[in-house]
Amino acid sequence: MAHIGFVGLGNMGLPMAQNLIKAGHQVEGYDVFDAAAEKLRSSGGGRAETVKVAASRADVVITMLPSGAEVREVYLGPLGVLESAQPGTVLIDSSTIDVATAREVAQAAAERRMLMVDAPVSGGVGGAQGATLTFMVGGPQPAFEKAKPILEGMGKTIVHAGGPGNGQAAKICNNMILGISMIAVSEAFVLAETLGLDAQKLFDVSSKSSGQCWSLTTYCPVPGPVPTSPANRDYQAGFTAAMMHKDLKLAQDAARQGGATTPLGAEAAALYGLYCGHGHASRDFSGIIKFIRGF
Ligand code: NAD
Repeated sequence: MAHIGFVGLGNMGLPMAQNLIKAGHQVEGYDVFDAAAEKLRSSGGGRAETVKVAASRADVVITMLPSGAEVREVYLGPLGVLESAQPGTVLIDSSTIDVATAREVAQAAAERRMLMVDAPVSGGVGGAQGATLTFMVGGPQPAFEKAKPILEGMGKTIVHAGGPGNGQAAKICNNMILGISMIAVSEAFVLAETLGLDAQKLFDVSSKSSGQCWSLTTYCPVPGPVPTSPANRDYQAGFTAAMMHKDLKLAQDAARQGGATTPLGAEAAALYGLYCGHGHASRDFSGIIKFIRGF
């Protein structure tokens, strides 16, 4: 069993850390928000006073932070993970961040002979609580092999997507498909309404036809056809519009840097930006249908 330093105990990080405790690991947590670390302590973990304390005693450091800026600060900053952890420590960043930062931090970790992977997740808070997350992992094979048994305590599906940054690349490519497909499905349901075509009838046809996709059959943006989708609870998240907007912006940054042409991804990022800007950032991302309909 490993001694794990866990930094970032928010909506995702706390239940992930709690699952590692259940799996028998010794987990010491740090968060800038004291109450978060206290929650970990009351569920059988330890509370580290600083990143340095969490990293210096750990065999494995896991981070689950909001964005690339915090990841940069926690790993590269003074008294950060790279300055504090021992050579040979396994570093797992599960935050969703830009590919460029993931690669830069991985390079700095390799120079200090630490074994780093980027391992963003899909599955949301429910997946974090139930230890059923999917991990998309980027990093050298030896680092992946060391990280895998730890990730298995928090998730069900673990995919090695290639070298450093490729976990983040897989995550933003997947979520660009999701953002675009949710808009496509939403536009189709709005068009059906204007044509007098019943939503259930469109669902019955498209779920068995070439329009079939996850946004339609698992996360249908109108109430009724898929009783578990957020549309049936007034678009309570789920996966927030703010998170979708963040991931679409990361995809656009990566496309610009790499010279890829992603016009529908750009349009989806703009639409989600407008939806969030109208005060709906904390609604489920499938609520975009209301925006398309004109509310
Ligand atoms: P969150 O805001 O709930 O948690 C982030 C935590 O990090 C907070 O507790 C915050 O206090 C802490 N933090 C911020 N800066 C810190 C620092 N410098 N040092 C230590 N702690 C710091 O966010 P979340 O929903 O848990 O998401 C975390 C990451 O997971 C994000 O990158 C997000 O995009 C990704 N993600 C979230 C979901 C989801 O459904 N919530 C799904 C997939 C991926």
